[in-house]
Amino acid sequence: RSSLKIGLLPGDGIGHEVIPAAKEAIEALGSSIPKPEFVSLNAGFEYFARKGVALPEETVQILKNECDCALFGAVNSPSRKVTGYSSPIVALRKQLDLYANIRPVVSVAENPEDKPDVDLVVVRENTECLYIKDETTTIGPNGREARATRLITERASRRIGKSAFELALNRPRKSNVLSITDGLFRETVRFVPKSIEPVGKYDEVTIAEQLVDSAVYKLFREPQVFDVMVAPNLYGDIISDAAAALVGSLGLIPSINSGDSFVMGEPVHGSAPDITGKGIANPIASIRSAALMLHTLGYGDAASRIDRAVNQVIREGQYLTPDLGGSAKTDEVTKEILKRI
Ligand code: NAD
Ligand code: MN
Repeated sequence: RSSLKIGLLPGDGIGHEVIPAAKEAIEALGSSIPKPEFVSLNAGFEYFARKGVALPEETVQILKNECDCALFGAVNSPSRKVTGYSSPIVALRKQLDLYANIRPVVSVAENPEDKPDVDLVVVRENTECLYIKDETTTIGPNGREARATRLITERASRRIGKSAFELALNRPRKSNVLSITDGLFRETVRFVPKSIEPVGKYDEVTIAEQLVDSAVYKLFREPQVFDVMVAPNLYGDIISDAAAALVGSLGLIPSINSGDSFVMGEPVHGSAPDITGKGIANPIASIRSAALMLHTLGYGDAASRIDRAVNQVIREGQYLTPDLGGSAKTDEVTKEILKRI
């Protein structure tokens, strides 16, 4: 590659405050990556309110045909149903077939030589479960009745299971895949080592299973035992928000949405309406998402430079946003990270 075309979709709320920080972190890498070229793309509830569409076709086409990768901020979901609106992130994951949402949750040890207390990765299935939004409301003898379909397919479970096993193979630590489970998902993930050639490839990976409620309990009691956690869509979302609390803030946790041919970085947090416009959103989740995206594209050294700079700023503790108990602004934290990159 001679250049890297990156779609930027800030979305709504603090997305507009944190995605620019991620962009600056990429720019600060200089010549250690191909020359980045950014293209701003529309998506989100604000755009819907103005134009009547949440994910314009143009955005999807530019992502598919021109971009090497993308960064997505967050979108608002209205609390009441708004006719014609559906979440653009759910649609993007589907349209670009970004079937795996990889969410590493890692704490920063005080001493760089020490092992972090928490070092796990949630591998969340990204295309089905309750997010297919097959919902109806009818009137019954007990008032209104809401029903939703939860779809779990063998194909999606197998490919997310494979992603989790591959990831486990490439992690230096415990190599266990914990599947947060029920029914078909559990059976299919368990069967992955026997169903994918060459058989025996995943022999060193230990499989453990846990129901979602006790997994969250154990996560808070003994976070250090967890390594790779693979889960259906909704459980994966809940587990990763819970794990975020363990390491201090949702504002720290990055993710990538990835498929076989495209990767989109996205902070795990939402649009945070309670702090929007105050300039205090933590930019670290987005900056780390940029690093994770670059790592996935094969620019591991560049990604490490970003990660090291972020960890230094966290360790030093002088420039932290209020979610981490500090009083720094988004811009100040970003500036300190950029200096260290
Ligand atoms: P949220 O993640 O936006 O916020 C939860 C809490 O964490 C809030 O107190 C918020 O201030 C704080 N927080 C989140 N990110 C932060 C950051 N970078 N720095 C500092 N503090 C941060 O979740 P919510 O409040 O439940 O949802 C708000 C909106 O975001 C809703 O409309 C929801 O549907 C949407 N949402 C979107 C996504 C997405 O786009 N993928 C994900 C989750 C929620
Ligand atoms: Mn979430």
